[in-house]
Amino acid sequence: MTAAIIDGKEASARLKGGIAKAVADLKARYNVTPGLATVLVGDDPASHVYVASKQKTAVELGMASFQHDLAADTSEADLLALVRKLNADPNVNGILVQMPLPKHIDQVRVITAIDPAKDVDGLHPQSAGRLVAGADTLVSCTPLGCLMLLKDTLGDLTGKNAVVIGRSILVGKPVAMLLLNENCTVTIAHSRTKDLPAVCRTADILVAAVGKLEMVRGDWIKPGATVIDVGINPLPSTDGKRRLRGDVNYADASQVASAITPVPGGVGPMTIACLMVNTLKACCMQHGFSDVKVPTSLPPRN
Ligand code: NDP
Repeated sequence: MTAAIIDGKEASARLKGGIAKAVADLKARYNVTPGLATVLVGDDPASHVYVASKQKTAVELGMASFQHDLAADTSEADLLALVRKLNADPNVNGILVQMPLPKHIDQVRVITAIDPAKDVDGLHPQSAGRLVAGADTLVSCTPLGCLMLLKDTLGDLTGKNAVVIGRSILVGKPVAMLLLNENCTVTIAHSRTKDLPAVCRTADILVAAVGKLEMVRGDWIKPGATVIDVGINPLPSTDGKRRLRGDVNYADASQVASAITPVPGGVGPMTIACLMVNTLKACCMQHGFSDVKVPTSLPPRN
């Protein structure tokens, strides 16, 4: 068997098409433009690339983008003051503080300072709590992207055995909660899990969010499973070029799975598109616009 490729670039293009239409509709009906503020502290090159890509996508989809670049030695107090300013700014509907933050800044304190209504990264405890409660909320972007890809590939997920490797607040836990809300039977595996390969072999849906280069081998995968590889790991480079691979050994896994996301080009593009979904959703929630169609799933292929 050779697995179907779950093409995140194609899927994100479809999703962005739906978002752009909704943004145009919002402007035409209410003369309101969704605004995304991104805050970057320091000089981490990967973070610069991510933030630039988020801003570019926001503008492409007709949104306003407000970028705040702060020096690496910015104090926590100054960052919190900026967050409070953005909370109060009516043109800003979503606030994204790019992680990781420099070590002298308390990440949790910054995340909890963001107005939950503008928490487009879905990391505020209130957003996480609402997700656990099964209430409508802003869900963190990567997990939302994973869920959309899975539903687009498999349709109804009810009754499927899902194994999520990783239990971070950013990815593992919210992915598990979304799958539970879709009536999957969910196992969350982590670094202390016993016999991880055997646990993985029970999965109809396997989500790997670990950060360990190609850790998941082909013989860990149940024949016919659907595999979502969230991991982003640099390959050792001899020529200075940056090449990325996932947490799953793609070549082996694609001989066993029925469908699999590549790295790059799988979950990554969906993460950015879902940030745009959240910015649009936050804007509509803040204004009380219930008649604008915010995409909740991938639009069908043409
Ligand atoms: P974290 O480091 O926060 O979490 C990693 C998780 O993996 C932890 O729960 C850890 O377990 C678990 N783990 C580590 N080693 C093992 C092991 N040997 N066996 C089983 N479980 C293990 O990472 P994130 O959740 O933030 O990110 C995971 C990956 O996803 C990274 O590669 C990251 O770059 C990528 N990522 C990709 C995104 C995208 O857009 N595509 C967005 C966000 C992240 P324990 O809790 O026990 O320590």
